[in-house]
Amino acid sequence: MAPEQTAREPFFSTKSHERLSGASMHQPLRLRCDEAALAANYRSLQTRAGAQAGAAIKANAYGLGAAGAARALWNEGCRDFFVSTYWEAAELAFLPTGSISVLHGIGPTDEPLPGVRPVLISVEQIARWKSRGGPAQPCDVMIDTGMNRLGITREEIGALDGLTIHTLHSHLACADEEHPLNAAQLSRFRAASDSIPAQRYSLANSAGIFLGRDYAFDLVRPGLALYGGIPRSEARSTIKPVLSLEAQVVQVRRVRSGESVGYNATFVAPSDMSVAIINVGYADGYRRHFSSLGKATFGGAELPVIGRVSMDLVALDAGVASEIGEGDWVTLDFDLERSAALTGQSQYELLTGLGRRYQRIWS
Ligand SMILES: *Cc1c(COP(=O)(O)O)cnc(C)c1O
Repeated sequence: MAPEQTAREPFFSTKSHERLSGASMHQPLRLRCDEAALAANYRSLQTRAGAQAGAAIKANAYGLGAAGAARALWNEGCRDFFVSTYWEAAELAFLPTGSISVLHGIGPTDEPLPGVRPVLISVEQIARWKSRGGPAQPCDVMIDTGMNRLGITREEIGALDGLTIHTLHSHLACADEEHPLNAAQLSRFRAASDSIPAQRYSLANSAGIFLGRDYAFDLVRPGLALYGGIPRSEARSTIKPVLSLEAQVVQVRRVRSGESVGYNATFVAPSDMSVAIINVGYADGYRRHFSSLGKATFGGAELPVIGRVSMDLVALDAGVASEIGEGDWVTLDFDLERSAALTGQSQYELLTGLGRRYQRIWS
């Protein structure tokens, strides 16, 4: 006879993390987010635009943490927050009603969320919103002025009849460079704003703000520059860095002359040296491109990255920091423009690649 079935404890109880996480558990990797710098960037972008500024907080506020970023921006007067999907909007339910817009609009399986406006991007979505949201419910609309990514085309504008449009948007394809499409998109958006009734009109992202006040309309939608990214050279003098990356030393070891360090033995010690192994890797968005190129600082001393960046670990030449030891914290050079040039990644990729293993500290 088969033994009586008993309810089994799962191998890992779902409570195990709760049980294991006490005050003694700490994360050996930190992202320090400077609230005052974020607030200053928000203010200078708004001043530059001469219009109200909202904030793109999609993708977990570009890796900084959407909740912390939204709170700081709200305190600074920001009242418009942009996410990509309803899933992201649902995670930000703590934000006051009426302040979230969903840039990808309402998808086939999305249910309207109270106080959240979809940015309707197609004729299909308009029909969906009229039946699910009700045409009297305020929505936003994205029109295409030349990017050909999302949005209602000029030929489809008739479909907007009967909607209550809160904010009419379009998006610039080339705002970070000098390109004839900028002026073309501006004039198409101007024409659309004359013929499509809405409470507000919005065209510019971070880079667009630096194209001039013509591009600002009623509301600008920066993301990158809020978080310290430099979308155009004009931004360099006003945008402040917001985040700094700090990793803890796991071990300091002596490596003898002629021995190699890390995967594929790409670094060979030219003489006896001290090597600090730190708790960060490409799984944390510290890209493999930083291999032998990145730098960290410890108490004013500069420690170059040596050898390959691993998934969870990086080796530093600790030669100049003789007193460094296990448990010390180093700050990684993650200057966005410099890191983008060094790694060939965009500033957007560097920011949004920051993973979930950071303790995000707002102060
Ligand atoms: C992401 C996004 C923004 C913000 O762009 P940045 O270049 O980060 O300032 C603005 N508008 C739309 C439609 C977006 O998708």
